[in-house]
This record gives sequence, structure tokens and C-alpha cells, in this order.
Amino acid sequence: MNKGTAGKIVIISSPSGGGKTSICQGLLTEERKSQGWGFSISCTTRPKREGEQHGREYFFVTEEEFDKKAEAGFFAEHFPVHLYKYGTPKEQLDKVVEEGGVILLDVDVQGAAKIRRKYPDAISIFVLPPSKESLKERLQRRGTETPEQLDVRYNTARQEMNEYCNFEYTVINEKLESAISDVLSIISGQPGSNKSRTENINKEQINTIIS
Ligand code: 5GP
Repeated sequence: MNKGTAGKIVIISSPSGGGKTSICQGLLTEERKSQGWGFSISCTTRPKREGEQHGREYFFVTEEEFDKKAEAGFFAEHFPVHLYKYGTPKEQLDKVVEEGGVILLDVDVQGAAKIRRKYPDAISIFVLPPSKESLKERLQRRGTETPEQLDVRYNTARQEMNEYCNFEYTVINEKLESAISDVLSIISGQPGSNKSRTENINKEQINTIIS
């Protein structure tokens, strides 16, 4: 176990297309995994996209299964996001709190707020795309949605970007490698991470992205 990063819940939120999935993948090297780093695998009622695997990206469940789990207290938080339901299994988080390690959570802004209330020591990071144009481009590039679904995601993403101020840290994902190293520095509590504290981020730059 890496003592410097023991027992940490790290919330990484961003609008769809912000790049949080690539950041999480970049953080989870084999070496870190062997030091107890992992990714919280959520349950969702969303249909599986091409290339996704049950138990890897998500646990894909039916509405009925989801509702049963929610009623049984299986989730640390659960919310409808876009058109489907998503929930974070509580057990994975409690295990990290008790046994140490680092668990990365890719949740929407509602889920992030709930987790922060339940686990006040959780580190919260908001990832922004470098511009509105790049957000649109990334959403389109993924090519997994219909034009209507894309519109819903783009409009929701624009609204969600305003939420950055509720997060302890803000990372602008201009270049993936530097975004990953910014997040690493935040997780390991290095002094260099102060520049990523939301109150220290250049507000003019942010305003051009979110306005
Ligand atoms: P996607 O369907 O593109 O994988 O994810 C859609 C949105 O759901 C993203 O904003 C993602 O962060 C969010 N999400 C994924 N898992 C969870 C979860 O367990 N809880 C909440 N609240 N949001 C989630």
C-alpha cells in the first residue's frame, strides 16, 4: 500500500466529453493498481455501448434490478443522469475507507455532491474541456449517440460546467498527459496542486469556456 495515498475517495466529475474517462484510465496503471488503486464501477440502466463489458465499465442492470438495489441501500448515491439511472455501490467505497487504497469515482455533479456529504474527506475534482468547441467535437467524435442524444448531452454538459465552483479542484483538460499529472499531484497532496485549487484557477479562462 502506498502510504501517501492511503484510503482516498477521489471524485472526478466533468461534463460528458470533458475527458474524465481518459484521465481515469491514464491514472490506473498496473503499478498503481497493485498499490490498491481502483475505479468504482457503477450500476446503470443505460444500454451497453459497443466495446463495453458488464463488470468493467459498468454493471448493466434492468430498471427493476436497479430499483431493488436502491431500496436495499446498495448505493452510496444514485441519480437519473440524462435518460438513465446510475448508482455507485457503497461497498467499494467503504472498503477503501476501512482498508486503504485509492478509489476513483466518475459520477455526475449530483452524485458528487451526495458523496461529499457522506464522505467529507473525499477529494473532489472537476475536469473542464479547454473550450466549448472542443467539448462539441469530443462528443461528436465518440460517435456513439444519435443527433438527438448528442443535443441532450451537449446542453446538459453546458449546464454542468457551471458546477465547477462546487468542487475543491478544477483541472482544464487541454493535454491529457498534463491533466493526468495535475490530478496525480492533487491526489498525492503535493504543494504543486495548489494551482489547481478552484479558488486559484484563472477565472477569465474559465469564463470563456463556460459562458
Ligand atoms: P455515460 O453514460 O456516458 O457513461 O455517463 C453519463 C454520466 O453519468 C456521466 O456524467 C457520468 O459521470 C455519470 N455517472 C456514471 N456513473 C455514475 C454514478 O454511479 N452515479 C452518478 N450520479 N453518475 C454517474
